[in-house]
Amino acid sequence: MSTKAESSRPRAPDTKKVHIADTPLTRNNWYKHVNWLNVYLILGIPAMGCVQAFWTPLYLKTAVWAVVYYFFTGLGITAGYHRLWAHCSYSATLPLRIWLALVGGGAVEGSIRWWARGHRAHHRYTDTEKDPYSVRKGFWYSHLGWMVMKQNPKRIGRTDISDLNEDPVVIWQHRHYLKVVFGMGLLFPMLVAGLGWGDWLGGFVYAGILRIFFVQQATFCVNSLAHWLGDQPFDDRNSPRDHVITALVTLGEGYHNFHHEFPSDYRNAIEWHQYDPTKWTIWSWKQLGLAYDLKQFRANEIEKGRIQQLQKKIDQKRSKLDWGTPLEQLPVLEWDDYVEQAKNGRGLVAIAGVVHDVTDFIKDHPGGKAMINSGIGKDATAMFNGGIYYHSNAAHNLLSTMRVGVIRGGCEVEIWKRSHKENTEYVRDESGQRIIRAGAQVTKIPEPVSTADAA
Ligand SMILES: [Zn+2]
Ligand SMILES: [Zn+2]
Repeated sequence: MSTKAESSRPRAPDTKKVHIADTPLTRNNWYKHVNWLNVYLILGIPAMGCVQAFWTPLYLKTAVWAVVYYFFTGLGITAGYHRLWAHCSYSATLPLRIWLALVGGGAVEGSIRWWARGHRAHHRYTDTEKDPYSVRKGFWYSHLGWMVMKQNPKRIGRTDISDLNEDPVVIWQHRHYLKVVFGMGLLFPMLVAGLGWGDWLGGFVYAGILRIFFVQQATFCVNSLAHWLGDQPFDDRNSPRDHVITALVTLGEGYHNFHHEFPSDYRNAIEWHQYDPTKWTIWSWKQLGLAYDLKQFRANEIEKGRIQQLQKKIDQKRSKLDWGTPLEQLPVLEWDDYVEQAKNGRGLVAIAGVVHDVTDFIKDHPGGKAMINSGIGKDATAMFNGGIYYHSNAAHNLLSTMRVGVIRGGCEVEIWKRSHKENTEYVRDESGQRIIRAGAQVTKIPEPVSTADAA
């Protein structure tokens, strides 16, 4: 599914100087490619926090608070930035929107407006050059590289964010973003620990700096790990994948193959036993009257996608198997030629107008040599289909791998062949391969024709 359409007005060709991101990375210019501000924010500050943690005792209350605030700010991204603003998968009342804008800002991953625009481009242009964090450029690029290396903003696919520009909470947060980051990223967690139980420094280091680092790394996994690890039960043409590990790390954003197929569904995991605390939280907000209009795709639509992907996998497996030479590629034999060749020692058996070379199979025939030998050089259609023994489905399948020709002429066989050709339309898979269903093999005759030979 694609997100809303962008306004595609033609742009004047840019004659100004080339963006650094579009020049090759060399030993002399690499530092110009680096977005140093982001390096400082994403890696520098956490590194300093790690060092500071050596001298900062960790109290139990602060540790619990850091984990609780990790969930608050993480949900600010997953339930707020992602499912509410980027995908509009539910509606939220003003108090909830303000709360999500604040704690989402506390995760320090950019403003809602900036984040949602990039994410909509990611969904619309997944895996292409216009995808801001395309995993096709490597795991680390999709995780961090797209932020720590300068990007040409013109490369990112354009998306419609007019709905976000109409949300005063989004606009307010975008305007005051740095204040929100400082206030909710560092000040608020420090105040809670400081005023609550006197641990100002611990609040700053653990619930502030290090908690930001963990929330960031966890949510970055949606762009990297969720496009890297796991299964693709709905569509395997693009990179998104489903995996429980990603779900555990990302507060439930790990069923990413589902999510890219059904992005406006407020759920990421659809089974009750799958881990999706973001979904559970949104649902709880609904019970409290804070969230409403939770969007959900019908199970019918979801199952269709799953079945189509299964069908594709089955087609791939089927195409690797030997179903015998297609009839139209087999040489046409005259009946007399067939009888002649069989007399001269070739183990040929004609069944339903198709000639099979069973020479190497005679000794392995489960019904014994005598039985199979009695069909050689004859029309064994009826024998094979119940005249002597009603052969199994597996036997028809095996027989098809021994095909060597089709017969022209030959009484009942020819009559049957004509009617069979007229009545049978082969089912084919999407790559044009014939699908042979159990009981639908060409050699399978529901009501055996009785022939003089078989009598
Ligand atoms: Zn994705
Ligand atoms: Zn998404």
